Amino acid sequence: MQYFSLQNPAHSVSFETAVVQGLAPDKGLYFPEQIPVLPDNFIANLHDYTDHEIGYEVIHAFAGDEIPAEALKQIVKDTLHFPFPVQKVSGRTYALELFHGPTLAFKDVGARFMAGCLGYFRRNADKPVTVLVATSGDTGGAVASGFYNVPGVDVVILYPSGKVSTLQEKQLTTLGNNIRALEIQGTFDDCQRLVKTAFLDEELQRRRQLTSANSINVARWLPQMFYYFLAFKQMKAAHHKLVFAVPSGNFGNICAGMMAAAMGLPVSHFVAATNVNDTVPRFMTTGQYTPGKAVATLSNAMDVADPSNFVRVLQLFGNSLPALQEKFTAISFNDQDTARTMEQVWKEYHYMLDPHGAVGYLGLQQYLETAPDLTGIFLETAHPVKFEDTAPPAIREDIHAPARVLSLYNKEKVSTILPADYTAFKNWLMR
Ligand SMILES: *Cc1c(COP(=O)(O)O)cnc(C)c1O
Repeated sequence: MQYFSLQNPAHSVSFETAVVQGLAPDKGLYFPEQIPVLPDNFIANLHDYTDHEIGYEVIHAFAGDEIPAEALKQIVKDTLHFPFPVQKVSGRTYALELFHGPTLAFKDVGARFMAGCLGYFRRNADKPVTVLVATSGDTGGAVASGFYNVPGVDVVILYPSGKVSTLQEKQLTTLGNNIRALEIQGTFDDCQRLVKTAFLDEELQRRRQLTSANSINVARWLPQMFYYFLAFKQMKAAHHKLVFAVPSGNFGNICAGMMAAAMGLPVSHFVAATNVNDTVPRFMTTGQYTPGKAVATLSNAMDVADPSNFVRVLQLFGNSLPALQEKFTAISFNDQDTARTMEQVWKEYHYMLDPHGAVGYLGLQQYLETAPDLTGIFLETAHPVKFEDTAPPAIREDIHAPARVLSLYNKEKVSTILPADYTAFKNWLMR
C-alpha cells in the first residue's frame, strides 16, 4: 500500500516510510491511496472469526507485502491480547469498553501496533530510533507500555508537570530501560511545541534519528478500526442498525471508525462527542474551521483545539461538508454535563463512566433521541480510575483500580524536570 501526503497527493510513500516518518516532510498527514473493501461474507460472518483473524483481515492490505503475513499476524496478536467487551448500559445504549489493556485506555491498541511495526522495520538497524512523544496523559502511558523493551527503539516522553493524574504519571515514569520521562514545567501545548521544534532541527536530526508516536502516525491510527469490527461482531449486528458515539479529541479514533465503514462495515451514523473544545461541532454548523486555544476540562485527553486527524475525516468525504453531515454529527458538552452524567449513570444503571466515556454517552443520548430505529454504542475509552482525582466526590469512593495496576502506586517515579524551553530540551537530547 502506498500513502500520500494530504498536503500534496503527488508525494507518495510506502507503509514503512509513512510509519518511520510519521508526518510527511511537507507536514501533511499520510493517507492510504486505496481503501480496500472487505468481502460481504466476511462482514456477515464476523462472529465466526477470532479477534486475531479479524484484526489481520482488516489491516493486512494497509501493510501490503511490507510485513510478511506471519510477522503481521504476530503483531496483531500482541496488539489484541486483551478483551474489548460490549456492555449493555440501558435501553438502546451499549458501552464498548476499550480500557482493558495494560494502561487502561484505548490508546494501548494503536501504541502496541505501532511498536510492533516499528520494531519490525528497525529489526536490522544499527542505530536506535528515538520516539519523541508529547502527552497530556494517556498517549504517553500507552506508548511507554507498547514500546517497552522493543529493541532498537528509545522513547522520550514529555508531559506537563502537575497536569496528569497520579496513575497516569506512574505509568509514564516507572518503567525505565528504553523509556524516559521528561517532566516539563509548562502546559501540554509547551510539550507539543518542544517536540515539533525538535523535528525541524537538522542538527539534532543528524545526531539522533527521531520519529513520532502521536496519533497522526498511520500505524497508530489504522488499527483503531479493530474496535468497530469487534463491537459489530459482539452485537451479532444483523439485528441492529448501529450508531457509534466516540469521545473525540484529535479525531483519530472516530476517523478510524469511518474508515471501517468505508471498508464495508455497516454503520448508520457516527457521533463525535467533544468537551468544550468544540472546533469541529462549530465547523459542522458554520462551515468555518476556526480553532481557538485549548481549554482544560475534566476529559483532558480531549483538550484539543485543532484536531489533527480531522483533515482525514474530510478526505474520506471528498472534502464535502454536506456529504459529511449525512453520516456524521458533532456535539459538544461542558464539564457540568459530564460530571452530572457520571453521577447519574452510576446511580441509575450502576455503570461507572470515566469523563471521556461520559461525553460519548451524552453524545449518544442526544443523537438517539432523533433516531428511534437505531441502537447506540458509545466508546468507553479509559478506565474511570485514571481520572479519579477529578471524579465527582459523590462517586469517587466507588471507583476501584483493577488489581493489575495496584502495584504501580508503590513504584518510584523517575523523571527529569526541565523548563519549557527548547534549548534545555535540545541540550538534554544531545548529551
Ligand atoms: C486520546 C483519548 C481520546 C480522544 O481520542 P482521539 O482519537 O484523539 O479523538 C478520548 N478518550 C481518551 C481516554 C483518550 O485517551
